[in-house]
Amino acid sequence: MAIKALRGMNDIFSPEIHVWQLVEDHARKLFALYGYEEVRTPVLEELNLFVRSIGETTSIVEKEMYSFVDRKGKALALRPEGTASIVRAYIQNERAQSDPVARYYNIGPMYRYERPQQGRYRQFHQIGAEVFGIANPRIDAEMIHMVDQFFQGLGIDDLEIELNSLGCPICRPGFTKKFSEYLDSHQSSLCEDCHRRTQKNPLRALDCKQETCMTLMKEAPSIQDDLCDECEGHFDTVLTHLGHLGSSFSVNHKIVRGLDYYLRTTFEFTTSQLGTQNAVAGGGRYDGLVRLLGGPNVPGIGFAVGMERLIELILLKQKITPSVLAPTVYGIAMGDAAHELMIQVAQSLRRSHIFVEIDYEGQSLKAMMRRADRRQTPWVVIMGDEEVNKGIFILRNMGTKEQKEIPMGEVQQLPQRIKT
Ligand code: AMP
Repeated sequence: MAIKALRGMNDIFSPEIHVWQLVEDHARKLFALYGYEEVRTPVLEELNLFVRSIGETTSIVEKEMYSFVDRKGKALALRPEGTASIVRAYIQNERAQSDPVARYYNIGPMYRYERPQQGRYRQFHQIGAEVFGIANPRIDAEMIHMVDQFFQGLGIDDLEIELNSLGCPICRPGFTKKFSEYLDSHQSSLCEDCHRRTQKNPLRALDCKQETCMTLMKEAPSIQDDLCDECEGHFDTVLTHLGHLGSSFSVNHKIVRGLDYYLRTTFEFTTSQLGTQNAVAGGGRYDGLVRLLGGPNVPGIGFAVGMERLIELILLKQKITPSVLAPTVYGIAMGDAAHELMIQVAQSLRRSHIFVEIDYEGQSLKAMMRRADRRQTPWVVIMGDEEVNKGIFILRNMGTKEQKEIPMGEVQQLPQRIKT
């Protein structure tokens, strides 16, 4: 039996691949305008990196890691997200030594052993970015605005931006205690998962999607009332500055996100068009993480966009139509001598950045012309023994069906000819 790809892992082909490339290109260009540089880290890391950073009691670490032991008994894991690896790389490469401020972006596959469904895969891709060394809340706003610009530039202009502050190690424990007590007094209405969460990770109950829990959360205490002055001031500045930058947003105190390292600002970009998997991007501040992983006390903030969900949205909205790349010139040669010359014509055109595809399969002129038609090429160059002997080739305009005999010596002028 033929071997198939693993469940929840997809092959990406043309024409969709062109949309992927366009999105990646757009990200590279836009992020560069804000001073971000690309960083590429390994997809495989020590398991402990993710356990320590994401948190032992999070669903990612508890249930979703692709972890295994290597031949020497070392516990490894495929990265479930990008931030931990970039923080590890930032520390290991001593990037903070001369100047702690750094901006990085990365694009690549992530792995989570989740139940696959529309918009949720086991291998998925993220475009993410991180800023180190800036505690000023204005950078939070600038980053959220940049993500907004990223989506707008792709024609996605109806995402909701939701923001929350998760407080800090000074004010959050007080809220967590109050919230845990609220959960305890409503144990009987909680779903099974939230029951478990009350012990280990109570705040996760805030964004539970079960009907009964959602109802319960409407009346739950809000973190807003417990933020310390510093966290409140930070959050206010983020909101004000984001407003000045021109991004529309709403505050949602239920956004807790599934990773332990977040504090203060957290945010999500959501859509109403993709069913239950409605988060297209998310991120937040993680000021203690660099130190937690053994580095200096440098603040950080980051986000990740889910590529599969974004591409689905783009295709759904038909903002970008995936098109098959058609060759500008299709080369049809009959006989060895003609093939030799065709290669010269093609090389000359490619030097002028013109996409040329040569037919190596055709048995007859008719079959090759049919293929040229299917490839939707606007121009065909035809050469057989007769043309070789005469020192010419035939240039056919597939739109007008007009054919011209061009002397081989005029091959240099061909780019001008087919551009006009
Ligand atoms: P997270 O790292 O969980 O904050 O996720 C950031 C973004 O990645 C989400 O908003 C989704 O768009 C995307 N994402 C997360 N998990 C998956 C998954 N299993 N399949 C597809 N996309 C995902």
